[in-house]
Amino acid sequence: MLRHALRASIALGLACGGGGGGPEPLPDAGPLACPTEAPTIGSAGTTSSETFPLTWGPDGVAAVDLVVPDDLTALALVAEDGTDYTAFWSVRQDNRGLVDLDTDPDGLRAPFYHTWNYSSSLAFPTNETSALEPGCLRVEALTDGSGAAPGVLHVLSRRRAAGGTLRVDLVLVGATELPGATLDQVAAELATVLDATGLAITVEVATAAVDGDPFPPSDGAETLALRGSYRPADPSRIPIYVIQGFTGELDTLGIAGGIPGANGVPGAASAGVLVAVDPHLTEGGEVDVLVMAETAAHELGHQLGLFHTTEAEGTEHDPIGDTAECDASRDDDGDGDVSAEECAETGGRNLMFWVSAEFPQRELSAWQRRILELGPVVR
Ligand SMILES: [Zn+2]
Repeated sequence: MLRHALRASIALGLACGGGGGGPEPLPDAGPLACPTEAPTIGSAGTTSSETFPLTWGPDGVAAVDLVVPDDLTALALVAEDGTDYTAFWSVRQDNRGLVDLDTDPDGLRAPFYHTWNYSSSLAFPTNETSALEPGCLRVEALTDGSGAAPGVLHVLSRRRAAGGTLRVDLVLVGATELPGATLDQVAAELATVLDATGLAITVEVATAAVDGDPFPPSDGAETLALRGSYRPADPSRIPIYVIQGFTGELDTLGIAGGIPGANGVPGAASAGVLVAVDPHLTEGGEVDVLVMAETAAHELGHQLGLFHTTEAEGTEHDPIGDTAECDASRDDDGDGDVSAEECAETGGRNLMFWVSAEFPQRELSAWQRRILELGPVVR
């Protein structure tokens, strides 16, 4: 069954994967130097969360210059303007373009595949070649709102080595029920799935609850409010909202807030993952805890910046070099899609394969693990 409907559910087309037919790589962006008053990102030896105002110009663009220090290992940016769509219009360094929405409005360009989202986010690195260089970083964010009030640029940084603790909360929404299982069982299995991937971090999974409709739509104002409704005292905790089902999309297993989502920014409109109970019920009407935990882990992977290793047709793959790629020649039954079983030896067992399987999907490559281990919310 299709693991998620992120691509379909984000109205402006948040791309999930890519690789074929996209625009050419960005040309050199020209020289760039920061003004002397530009702030240096973060604090040495730790992870930090800082905010800067986004003062929108008449064209809806706001620019912030930041200095990348020598010891920066990872960075996440979130452009928040209430519940309006935002995007990064341009992100560049000296002679290096990273994101350019002007020439890539649909987010087809590797490695970020960046386009509009609610509380739009970017993470560096997202593969082997996209870590930031020391020096000036110019961030230009864009809002789809009125621009009357300033937005907020959240800058989450890591100035130490990878590793630490990733904290995740399974958040039960309203009257959602888990027939034949408990939320604690799903939490324990989620920890087991993440452990099986070989992550060199501690994973802590807890449970919580919020009020809300157990059958929200997959998109729209109500869902944005739900994603921002859980506000833990520790902002690094990532919510996975457990709902009964998506109204009108009863087969959808789960949806991430973005690739990546607004991690470390509780209350933001893309701050959480949604996972549905009902499409995980067995024929006997009980929760398939193993598969539901894999769905939660898969959506968490998106939320933290991982794309599908292989997309449905076997023609598009993630931007990470060390993930197995299954190509269209493996489509043995000729139905137009490569199944996990057809790709069993070429990535079908990866947690981030595009579709679920008859066997466990609990593998991550070394670089997929590194992206997760570097996340600024891993503290
Ligand atoms: Zn997915």
